[in-house]
Amino acid sequence: MLSVQDLDLADKAVFLRVDFNVPLDERRNIRNDARIRAALPTLGYLLDRGARVFVASHLGRPKGRRLPEFSLKPVADRLSELIPQPVGFALDCIGEDVERMEVALPPAQVLVLENLRFHAQEEANDAEFARSLVRRADFYVNDAFGACHRAHASVEAVTRFVKAAAAGFLVEKEVDYLNRVVRDPEKPFAAILGGAKVSDKIPVIRNLIRKADDILIGGAMAYTFFAAQGLDTGRSLVEREKTDLAAELLRQAETAGVNFYLPQDHVVAESAEADAAEVISSFPIPAGRMALDIGPATVDTYRKVIQHARTIFWNGPMGVFEADPFASGTDAVALAVAGSTALSIVGGGDSVAALYKAGVQDKISHISTGGGASLEYVANETLPGIQALAEKLK
Ligand code: AMP
Repeated sequence: MLSVQDLDLADKAVFLRVDFNVPLDERRNIRNDARIRAALPTLGYLLDRGARVFVASHLGRPKGRRLPEFSLKPVADRLSELIPQPVGFALDCIGEDVERMEVALPPAQVLVLENLRFHAQEEANDAEFARSLVRRADFYVNDAFGACHRAHASVEAVTRFVKAAAAGFLVEKEVDYLNRVVRDPEKPFAAILGGAKVSDKIPVIRNLIRKADDILIGGAMAYTFFAAQGLDTGRSLVEREKTDLAAELLRQAETAGVNFYLPQDHVVAESAEADAAEVISSFPIPAGRMALDIGPATVDTYRKVIQHARTIFWNGPMGVFEADPFASGTDAVALAVAGSTALSIVGGGDSVAALYKAGVQDKISHISTGGGASLEYVANETLPGIQALAEKLK
C-alpha cells in the first residue's frame, strides 16, 4: 500500500479518516484522548506540507441517526488544544454546506467533519455516500487503524473515488508490528488469549495454531474448551453451541504440535460479585460455583512460557479482572509480558487497561489502538481497510 509519505501534498486537499472514537463521560468530557493523540503525527505531517485536511471519524453507535450525544464537536475542541493551527468544525460530513467549507479551507488548516455514522450509508459501505465524502478531496489517507476491520464507506468504498489512497503513520506502524507476528515470527512465539467468548476468537486461534509454539488460554473462554472435553464446569460461562468447534481446535493444535495450555487451577466463587473466592485444581467445578480467574499454579506455568518466548501476542483478560478478587491472573500476565525482552504486542481494551493499571505500559513493544482490528489482522493477515489501500495500487 501507498504511504502518506509517497503523496505530493502541497496545496492538495486530503480526506483523513481517523479513529476519534474516544470515551466520553455523561457531560461529554473526553475521558481519554489517546486516540486523538495517536493521529497527530500524520495530521502534523500533512499540515507541515501545506495540505488542506478534512478530518473524518465515527463516534459511538448512533446507527444512522443525528444524536447530539455522539457529536464530534468536543473532539474538535480537544484537537484545537493539541495543535497550533485553527480547527474548523462542519455540522455534517457530506452536503453542499460542508463542501463550501472544504473549498474555502486555507492551506495547512483543518476542518473536522461531523460523525460519519449519523448517516446509515456509512456502515452500509454505500458507494454514493463514499463519493460524496471525497468530492472536494484529492487524496484519501487512512489513519484509523481501529476501524480498518470494518468495510464501511469511509474505510473501504471511499478509496475508489480519489486520485490516490494511502496509509497514515499509525496504520503503517500497526501493520508493521502485526506483520512481525503473522509473518515469520521470531520463535518461540507465545500467544495469550482470554476474555469471555471463544466465538470471537475462533478464527484467530485457528490461524495461530499454524504460527505459534505456545497458546495460553485464560478467561471464561477456557471453560468452553473444558466442556468440550466432557468436564463438569459448574456454573462457569460456557458457550454450549461452540463446544464442537472448541474440540476441533484442540485436535488441530495437537496435530500441529502446538502447546495448547488451559488453566490447571481455577479461582472459583458463587458469582463475579462475591468477595470470597477459593482455588481448586481439579474438576468438577463445585455445583453453584463458577471459575472467574486462573489460579496460582497456572500463573506460574504461563509466566515461564512467557519468559521463554521471543514473540508475544496478548489479547483478553485471564479472568473477571474488573473485580479485585479475580484480577490476580490478568495482573500477573501483564507483569510477565512487560518483564519480557521479547517483541510484545498487546491489543484489546481489557488487556491494555491491565497494563496501565500495573503501570507497565511503557515496557510493551507495541500497544495496539485497535483491539478488534488487531485480532482480525492476526486471524486473516489483512483487513478490509488495508485491502482497499492495496487494491488501489493495482
Ligand atoms: P471479551 O470481550 O471477550 O474480551 O471479554 C472480556 C470480559 O470477559 C471481561 O469483562 C471479563 O470480566 C470477562 N471474563 C473474563 N474471564 C471471565 C470468567 N472466567 N467468567 C466470566 N467472565 C469473564
